[in-house]
Amino acid sequence: MKNLFISFAIFAQLISFSCAQNTQNKPKNETVMADTFRKLTDEEWKAKLKPEQYYVLRENGTEKPYTGEFVFTKEKGIYSCAGCGLQLFSDEMKFEAHCGWPSFDREITGGKIVQTEDNSHGMKRTSISCARCGGHLGHIFDDGPTATGNRYCVNSAALNFEPKSNKTSEVITLGGGCFWCIEAIFDELEGVSKVESGYSGGTTENPSYNKVCEGKTGHAEVVQITYNPEIISLTTLLEVFFKLHNPTSKDKQGADVGTQYRSIVLYHSNEQRKIVENIIKTLNDNKAFENPIVTEVVAYKKFYIAENYHQEYYQINKEEPYCKAVIKPKMDKLEQIFAQKLKKNGK
Ligand SMILES: [Zn+2]
Repeated sequence: MKNLFISFAIFAQLISFSCAQNTQNKPKNETVMADTFRKLTDEEWKAKLKPEQYYVLRENGTEKPYTGEFVFTKEKGIYSCAGCGLQLFSDEMKFEAHCGWPSFDREITGGKIVQTEDNSHGMKRTSISCARCGGHLGHIFDDGPTATGNRYCVNSAALNFEPKSNKTSEVITLGGGCFWCIEAIFDELEGVSKVESGYSGGTTENPSYNKVCEGKTGHAEVVQITYNPEIISLTTLLEVFFKLHNPTSKDKQGADVGTQYRSIVLYHSNEQRKIVENIIKTLNDNKAFENPIVTEVVAYKKFYIAENYHQEYYQINKEEPYCKAVIKPKMDKLEQIFAQKLKKNGK
């Protein structure tokens, strides 16, 4: 049985790490993120970045024309700052400028890029840098061929690229303690079409709830989430996931103890694996939690759906003490932090 006396202290140690689109919380969260990056020393930046990234972002360097990896790319997706992950441009803003560097005619709105006068090398130019980490990106010129008239000339080394999925339905499997909680949380999100509670990550075939609770099947309590990546990104799903459970406590969530309650992500593709590893690295690098993240990241093999009475458990049993004591506060927190992402507030 789930224990009623879960500790709520875990919430206190979660720092603000929220989706960029969450305007309600953005200013505060953005300040926290910016502060974190601005405090990094040169040595820490060197350890974090590849040499060519350090040269451009931290030493105002310029890569040789036609040498960067994004000069000719046309793939759909988002270009973000290689220093801090702030989303800066999309493929729709990119054009072929025949100058040897990736060029954009505008930036993603929200004051993400800072312009500064640059009189170095005997030229009068305007340099552009990331508003969050201060990393140098390149320069902006007013000779752009589109309606904006702007040409953001950016070094490839200053950017990371996250391709946009062209699928309208994807599946991810997550475990973060009792599946009643996790299911209730993800059910609320716009773009999530199905959430099923079940077991995964172990070896026993067709496990029952009782067997899983004994802790010898190797399975974790998980939810299998079907979502539309055009509406909600995996990154946002993972932000919710990492914010609403404690990924630093091994085989334990509050008073629920055992390997079946371990924090686990079962990825269904290599793209998913990269996104998950990237987020965990970012959270660890920025000390988002007091302790390192222990979330297991493994390839998905098989999912066993749990017994019927576990499905929609919170919706059906809201008045139960466990639901009131453990799940309700998480739902409140979800509402508070991710209001923009919820179905009832949907577009
Ligand atoms: Zn940055």
